[in-house]
Amino acid sequence: MDAPVRTHCPYCALQCGMAISVSGPEITITPRTDVPANAAGALCQKGWTAAELLTNGARLTSPLLHGRPVAWDVALDHVAGRLSAIRREHGPDGVAVFGGGGLTNEKAYLLGKFARVALGTSQIDYNGRFCMSSAAAASIRAFGMDRGMPFPVTDLAGADVVLLAGANPAETMPPFVRHLAGARLVVVDPRRTATARLAWLHLRPAPGTDLALALGLLHLAVAEDLVDVAYVEERTSGFDAVRTSLAAWWPERVERITGVPVPRMREAVRALAYAKNAYVLTGRGAEQHAQGTDTVTAFVNLALALGLPGRLGSGYGCLTGQGNGQGGREHGQKADQLPGYRRIDDPAARAHVAAVWGVEPDDLPGPGRSAFELLDALGTPAGPKAMLLFGSNPVVSAPDSARVAERIRSLDLLVVCDVVMSETAALADVVFPVTQWAEETGTMTNLEGRVLLRRRAVEPPPGVRSDLEVIAALARRLGHDFADEPGEVFDELRRASAGGPADYSGITYDRITGARVTGDRTRGGVSGREAGAGVFWPCPSPDHPGTPRPFLDAFATPDGRARFVPVEHRGPAEEIDDDYPVYLTTGRVLAHYQSGAQTRRIAPLAEAVPEPYVELHPDLAGRLDIGAGDLVRVVSRRGEGRGVARISDAIRSDTVFMPFHWEGTNRITNPALDPTSRMPEFKVCAVRVERVA
Ligand code: SF4
Repeated sequence: MDAPVRTHCPYCALQCGMAISVSGPEITITPRTDVPANAAGALCQKGWTAAELLTNGARLTSPLLHGRPVAWDVALDHVAGRLSAIRREHGPDGVAVFGGGGLTNEKAYLLGKFARVALGTSQIDYNGRFCMSSAAAASIRAFGMDRGMPFPVTDLAGADVVLLAGANPAETMPPFVRHLAGARLVVVDPRRTATARLAWLHLRPAPGTDLALALGLLHLAVAEDLVDVAYVEERTSGFDAVRTSLAAWWPERVERITGVPVPRMREAVRALAYAKNAYVLTGRGAEQHAQGTDTVTAFVNLALALGLPGRLGSGYGCLTGQGNGQGGREHGQKADQLPGYRRIDDPAARAHVAAVWGVEPDDLPGPGRSAFELLDALGTPAGPKAMLLFGSNPVVSAPDSARVAERIRSLDLLVVCDVVMSETAALADVVFPVTQWAEETGTMTNLEGRVLLRRRAVEPPPGVRSDLEVIAALARRLGHDFADEPGEVFDELRRASAGGPADYSGITYDRITGARVTGDRTRGGVSGREAGAGVFWPCPSPDHPGTPRPFLDAFATPDGRARFVPVEHRGPAEEIDDDYPVYLTTGRVLAHYQSGAQTRRIAPLAEAVPEPYVELHPDLAGRLDIGAGDLVRVVSRRGEGRGVARISDAIRSDTVFMPFHWEGTNRITNPALDPTSRMPEFKVCAVRVERVA
């Protein structure tokens, strides 16, 4: 047996540490205990079965041109030729690039450079827009910087109270829950989820009303004199405007909107205020709304009023979902960003990155369309005619997905890099088979902002190449010389990020794996086992220890103060009515990940949850004459999805739930966009529910 290789899980943003051992055809995974995320040696069901991704019979091993296997050079030459022709006919923005939050930092970086330098297109965005973009926008608004959870996950062990708004880690990242073991949990969720069942207090607002609830909680904090006045005066700005705006959100009104009784709201806010150490954490349930940025802002306002962010042992954080959801939004695959989490419309940022890339700042395109707007423009007269897609499956994961699939089908050229034949790859003119997590080396930045190294542990199958090699090969054919070795790409990324908010310039592969940083815990250092894996950004020089808690002394705003921002509840973009009388909400299940392209092909995971289902309350099921196991159709103004009925009082009687790992669910969802983050409203829309005869 070869020596075990220390690496990380292929799936979610916790990035649990695991070791991979290879003995002949056998690949064995064991949990690592030196990675704080899962230091107790825990993995979830997906992590334990991840080796099957590497041996799966569904693996693509040859480039496909219109469905036929061809040699790599034939496929690459064809794509480069078509890209050149489409650019000549339609201009640089005639080609779009779509990335993913699971790509390594190196891939996200090279993809952004490829779009802006080799293609000259502004039309690049990625599926992370559908994930945590509202929390990112709210964090930048309040703190001047978005580092999802601006503290090590191990800090949560000292919490007395944790409020989880729209987050269900007991299902989505079970090892994370161990860090909450010492806290009383206040869970905000319309469903009695696995996490809500662990709660000391479960608040069940109607779908789409979390923002009103947060306003009600803050109103109570002010009314009951629970505001941390000294903290607000010393460390924040803008509180007076927020306090004034709260007058309209008296608790009884909020109870009428949300359905959450005033006494329960009072219990929640008192628990948070009286706790010595407390955290407010948000997840997709609060964020995937057309008012997602304002919803997160309302929870941040609550946390600020109680004096939590930037204090050791307390804080606000976002539970990022995708494996590299954090790093994926820092290195330039987002429509409005350049590497280092710089704004693409900032002249100084453009000058810095252009110098690293050896081009003129004026040659770099400006901001492009956000993810859904980009997908919705494909093939239209003013939109891109070609798309290159990496690490994403929008035919399943985009809202109003039947419309998105139609747009994709109208393209002159679709190129997909993937490991298996996903629903989107099945529509492609050219499919490039690529390496995956344990077959390649690259960095991931987990939900803490900790930069980790995934190491190559197994040989890739013959016939596949890395995404980096594909990007560089296409760039070469378009006249540009790009590095394609991960270490070289990372070194270039470090230079491009230098001086930006997400400064990686002091981070190296050696430091990530060998970092033993000691420091005074009260001043933001980490010590002992916390330092066993990875380096926290920002890390501006090789001798800098990294920044586990970036806001202890000051926030990243011009005056160092966190900003209160007044927000108003607007309600869901689509309300229920006589034709569509039930809310649909969507989410994840433990056994599956994202669009399910990987996990639906893993036997134990497919057996655990083999098919889509519709969870509905016994009262609603009775009214609709639906029994457990019946096939159910869920219909919205956009389309329909089907699933097997599961009857449960864990869901409200006005709401049904569907997991989004199968193609039907997002045919139903609403692409109404948040005006700031451009996040679609995945979490609530109006539907009717019918038993299929
Ligand atoms: Fe992998 Fe996330 Fe499960 Fe950990 S919690 S094993 S990172 S899927």
